[in-house]
Amino acid sequence: MGASTQWLRDLATTLLGRPDEIMLELGAGGELLVARIRALLSALILLLPLLNAVAGGNSSEVLIGLGAAIFINIMAQVWLALARARRRHSWLPFATSTYDITTTTGVLALLSLGDRVSGINSMVVWSFYLIAIAMTALRNDGRLTLYAGGLAIVQYGLLAWAVLASATSPEQLVSADYGTASVATQGERLILLLLMTLLTATIVYRMQRLVELSGSDGLTGLPNRTWLLQRMPRIFDGVRADGGSLTLALLDLDNFKRINDEAGHLAGDRAIRHIASAMSEALQQKERLVRLGGQEFVLLLYCPIGSAWERLDRLRRALAERPFQPERGAEPQRITFSGGLAAYPQDGADVSAMLRSADRRLQQAKREGRNRVVARDV
Ligand code: GH3
Ligand code: MG
Repeated sequence: MGASTQWLRDLATTLLGRPDEIMLELGAGGELLVARIRALLSALILLLPLLNAVAGGNSSEVLIGLGAAIFINIMAQVWLALARARRRHSWLPFATSTYDITTTTGVLALLSLGDRVSGINSMVVWSFYLIAIAMTALRNDGRLTLYAGGLAIVQYGLLAWAVLASATSPEQLVSADYGTASVATQGERLILLLLMTLLTATIVYRMQRLVELSGSDGLTGLPNRTWLLQRMPRIFDGVRADGGSLTLALLDLDNFKRINDEAGHLAGDRAIRHIASAMSEALQQKERLVRLGGQEFVLLLYCPIGSAWERLDRLRRALAERPFQPERGAEPQRITFSGGLAAYPQDGADVSAMLRSADRRLQQAKREGRNRVVARDV
């Protein structure tokens, strides 16, 4: 019971929250893919009035169809151009989903003006609701899926209600081509839209969990190297935009092999968790501790390199006062670290240049005897 409520709470927070930057980045690629699919489908729709003309349809119907198809194609090209733009518009997936759902409702409403039953019993046009909802999964945003599904249910519900309510006799709800329109079949369609929305939302939730797992370290739960490499460009953008300071600290535990050799590998793992939790306490808002691998960590500190050095030196001393106890009754072990600092952008304009500068200073700290932090090349 507890586990299932926890799962539901997780699901709700994931779906209703703003997705992770990595998900949004992938989602922007998904928006472009959807825009291409839309452009292709719209081009095919252009064939319909032409086929109607060849089949000898009446000219006003052909003209209305042609006008609608041209409008749909112009809109598809506008969405495609916006999705291609370098700048990512956060409103774009919401605008395009609103357009996809509303265009489907519009076409169904036009059909019902011609033949009341065709608008709510036609299968082909109605399926575009399902396609529009399924395509929200490509944008990796749970809020978008719930919004698009909700919009389709409300719009189609209102249309079906208007069509059913406008019939003055039961015969008006029977069509030679489209069968009988009934409250029961319309209810089933609304349930199908709801199921499609829930299914798509579950897919988005699972994808978000996978991305989260690929960016986090299994031993400590901290962000990992993948997270750092994917996230740093946006972090640099943020620092440039705010004009703030950023210091990257590369930390490596001293003589860690000894802990493994003396207390065993499992105790070594516990020591890494012990250090990670102590280091996390030194972080301020928005700052991050990353486990780069093994017993190497990166701290991202939003302050100039001088104050970063002071904070890390305080952390170094605090850690020395919190020795690690491998197991009950065992001799506590003092664990220290060495660190190298790099300031953005003076010591490197990208993540690999920053890591190189920090590593050079870390090696210097090791050479100078360990248990120290170096902020400058000598
Ligand atoms: P130095 O002061 O020069 O850093 O010495 P060191 O012994 O810490 O050497 P190094 O930084 O090269 O650390 C490598 C050792 O870290 C090898 C391995 O025993 C240990 N190690 C790396 N990852 C893990 C891990 O996930 N768990 C455990 N228990 N040990 C690890
Ligand atoms: Mg080490």
